Amino acid sequence: PFSTEVHEFKAETKKLLDIVAKSLYTDKEVFIRELISNASDACEKLRFLQTTQAVKEVNDADTPLQVTLSVDENERKFVIEDSGMGMTHDELVEHLGTIAKSGSLDFLQRGESDASKIIGQFGVGFYSTFVVADKVQVYTMTADKEKGSKGYLWSSDGSGSFTIEEVEDVPRGTRIELHLKDDATEFASLANVKKAAQKFSSYIDFPIYVKEEGEPKAINKQEALWMLRSATEEQHLEFFRFLSHNSYGKPFYTLMYQTDAPLSIKSCFYVPDPDNAPSRLFTKDPEIGVALHSRRVMVKKHADGVIPKWLHWMKGIVDCEDMPMNISRENMQDTRLMEKLSMAVVRRILRFLQQEAKKDPEKYQQFFKGYSYFLKAGIIEDKEGNFSRHKDDLLKLLRFECSNKSKGELISLEEYIDTAKEGQQNIYYFTCPDRQTALSSPYMEQFLQRQRNVILMFEDIDEFVVNAIEGFKDKKFISVDSADKNFELDIDQPEEDTSEDTRVLTDSEQTQLSQFIKSVLKEKVQEVKFSDRLVSSPAIVTSVITPHMRKMMKSLMAGKEN
Ligand code: ADP
Ligand code: MG
Repeated sequence: PFSTEVHEFKAETKKLLDIVAKSLYTDKEVFIRELISNASDACEKLRFLQTTQAVKEVNDADTPLQVTLSVDENERKFVIEDSGMGMTHDELVEHLGTIAKSGSLDFLQRGESDASKIIGQFGVGFYSTFVVADKVQVYTMTADKEKGSKGYLWSSDGSGSFTIEEVEDVPRGTRIELHLKDDATEFASLANVKKAAQKFSSYIDFPIYVKEEGEPKAINKQEALWMLRSATEEQHLEFFRFLSHNSYGKPFYTLMYQTDAPLSIKSCFYVPDPDNAPSRLFTKDPEIGVALHSRRVMVKKHADGVIPKWLHWMKGIVDCEDMPMNISRENMQDTRLMEKLSMAVVRRILRFLQQEAKKDPEKYQQFFKGYSYFLKAGIIEDKEGNFSRHKDDLLKLLRFECSNKSKGELISLEEYIDTAKEGQQNIYYFTCPDRQTALSSPYMEQFLQRQRNVILMFEDIDEFVVNAIEGFKDKKFISVDSADKNFELDIDQPEEDTSEDTRVLTDSEQTQLSQFIKSVLKEKVQEVKFSDRLVSSPAIVTSVITPHMRKMMKSLMAGKEN
């Protein structure tokens, strides 16, 4: 029998490092994020092992858990220190010497901590340092006294080898020094470092200090509210103000959403005051008000791809544990994950609004007044793809005036259907400038006479909404001013009107009248038809294009000419 040969892959470490560093990390500054994340993980591990008594005796027991950033402008150095777990000699070799080896993942897999608290697990973050540094030095001492109290220096220029030596007087934890490349000297500036640290790591659990003159102050103050099981109104208020960069205002609606399926999501959303809703002039690229995080660390400040443009006014944070931190526009394999995340989150937001509408219709009307335009825009944009499948949820959120209720009273489409005539298959609507015009229009006559409810739509965008959808539930939308549509005239016969002459024209009278009208209107009409659609008006004009649409097209054309 033949024996199977087993070979190991060989890799050019330097090339691999290059690929890893350059392709994974398109933004130079992300190394700060990665190093802070590792430092935070190291602190979390020590905290955890101490509370579970897995580590009994700790080196430098009095040093608090913290992270410190500093620079040396003259030496072009960036330095990060943490007082966390540190590494033994063997851990150094194993964790920093093997690309794609994650000590943190091992830690999690041994069941040693709450998954959401540990950031790393891909085992490549550390190598992002070689994007900005041509020499990296790691001083470290383990926290576990049982394993020793010796300090080590790991050092590499990223060219495929590293050295390790024993050194004296290393405090507990890890200190990493980056000797910055010529094109990365901006990270030897404390201001830049501080900015990047604040951007990515505002919600890290352990205090992060920047070594400045004077009293050290932690740059991260905010609690990661969305990670909590619940929060008080006071906490939400503060967080909302932090997110919206002002010190006044309060959230109109607040939603905390956490789930483990289909993805592990922890999130928090706020609807800002509808009275100050953003302008309807839809800017092409509005800034999305929700940020994407992964285990507290920011991945994307404006989470487009997760939150659709029409929800850009929503404020909040989505934290998805399954989201890789290197996610970027170029990274196509992440698109499916983003879509899944988006689907779950947007659906939850829309269902939440539906619940709120049921709970307090009056409050909801106030919300609707401010944001209805964006919900409608959502239905229209939805048609084009990405954020599809939300149409029904969006339609449920719309409210309209209708002919059977009084001015100012709004109903939902569901209510319309529930109160419709028996057997009615269509949803009748009328797009018109205002209620007065609608109710006095000949198109409405037979509906008013039958008390058949008609939805009145007063906004320009409504016309596009009804064009973007086929129907709602199993009902079709039909405009009362459209031609050749089935108006279901047989389902609810109006009471016989005997007071006036309602004699039907004979065939020859119809032909004569038709010829006469055509001779007067000529090419302005295509066809003259007789129907029982009207009650007191003698005639109406109908068209494939509704009158309202025609008016809008006219104004569009006029705009073009100017
Ligand atoms: P990841 O964080 O995804 O596991 P990294 O490449 O960022 O991968 O880090 C590799 C491993 O090196 C970590 O899992 C951890 O075991 C170890 N490590 C990195 N930085 C530190 C640190 N500051 N203190 C202790 N261990 C660290
Ligand atoms: Mg890491």
